[in-house]
This record gives sequence, C-alpha cells and structure tokens, in this order.
Amino acid sequence: MSDVLLGGPARKPVSCLLPLIVEPRRRDARPPPCRSCDGAAWWNGWRVTHPVVAASTDAVERHELVLPRAKCSCCRLGFTCYPPGVYPRRQYQLDVIADAVAAVAIGGELVAVAAATRAASSTSVRRWSAWVTALVDAQALHALAAQVDPSSASVATASPRSSTAAVLAAFEVLGAGLVRSGVAVVERSGLGRVLGWQHRAHGDVFGLAGPRFSPAMAFGGRPHGR
Ligand SMILES: [Zn+2]
Repeated sequence: MSDVLLGGPARKPVSCLLPLIVEPRRRDARPPPCRSCDGAAWWNGWRVTHPVVAASTDAVERHELVLPRAKCSCCRLGFTCYPPGVYPRRQYQLDVIADAVAAVAIGGELVAVAAATRAASSTSVRRWSAWVTALVDAQALHALAAQVDPSSASVATASPRSSTAAVLAAFEVLGAGLVRSGVAVVERSGLGRVLGWQHRAHGDVFGLAGPRFSPAMAFGGRPHGR
C-alpha cells in the first residue's frame, strides 16, 4: 500500500488509495468571541487539514477541509474554528477510532484487518486501543451518565470481554444519555459524542499523549445544547 504525505512533513502518511474529497471553504460573517477572554475576534486566514472520517462503521473517507482561523482583538489569541464533528489535532476522527477499536475489542476482529479496512496501520489501531482503555475508568463514565440522564442507570450492558470493551460500552451509554438530555451531536459513536461534546461545551481536547479524561472536568457544567 503506497502512502502520500499531506499537509507537510509533520503529517502522518495516509493511504493514497483513499480518494480525496475536497470540501468547500466555509466560515460565518464573523468569528465567535474569544474562548479565553470573550473579546471580539477577526478572521485571520485558513488552515488546511486532511481528516479521515467514518463514511460508515467499516469504511472511511479522506477529506480536504480548510478551517478558518481567527484572532482575538483583545488578548491576541489565535484559534481555529472547528465545525461540529471535527476533532482537533487528529487525522483519524473519533468515530473512525471508535469503530476500529470496537471491531477488535468487541467484534474480535484481527488488528491487521481492522486497520486495513480503515487505511490505517496496525500500530495505529493498537495505539488507539491503548488510548481508549487508559482514557477514563468505565465506572466513572457510568456515574456521569447517571447524572446527565438518570434513566441511563437502568441501561443494561452485556458483560464486557475486556477493559477496552468496558470503556467503549460506557462511552456508548454516556453518549446516548447526552442525546436524551438534549445535547446536539453529529458523531455516531459514544466516544465521538462524549469527547465532541467535551470539546464544544468545555474546550477540552484529549490527545493521544495528552491529559486523561477527567470526570471532574465533565462535571464542569450541565451539558449545553451544542
Ligand atoms: Zn481573547
């Protein structure tokens, strides 16, 4: 499988077997206020990204997505505006990761097969599995789900076959609870819904090497409808 480097040398290679779907540039008339100081911001250029998104549970697409950049007129903070469903600092998007990890941890698929289906490497799938497993304790997610939506407490899940499967299942319960409590989501997987909501509502981003998901952060506010 041959690869092509996109967006400069820092980018990971993505299979060129995936056709590139170029999305039109979009931005509102004005940027949102600064997340740090709430000051007015102005548009300040664009950033080219190449997210790999889930077309279905077992197929991916590679997009060329140009994101608008803004700059705060008060504190001079520069920031990128992400549309719903696009997670920062990540080429393979959250639903793709959730699908790949679930295929292995719940579906019993071989890592190499789960990787090839998504034009990813086996190393990436193993890294994603380790990341999901270490991200948060499954019980903490269930506790949060019961807070966000009390009816979540009665959701019965089959006994998971591994800690990875347990965390994934707990993300599904919390993701469904968020939807029932009125949070608008575009993500399909529980992992995508929960982390996407955390990003949109609280500005939290969880990188592969970044901080662990903290339930305390999630309690920072009732979920907002965006
Ligand atoms: Zn500012």
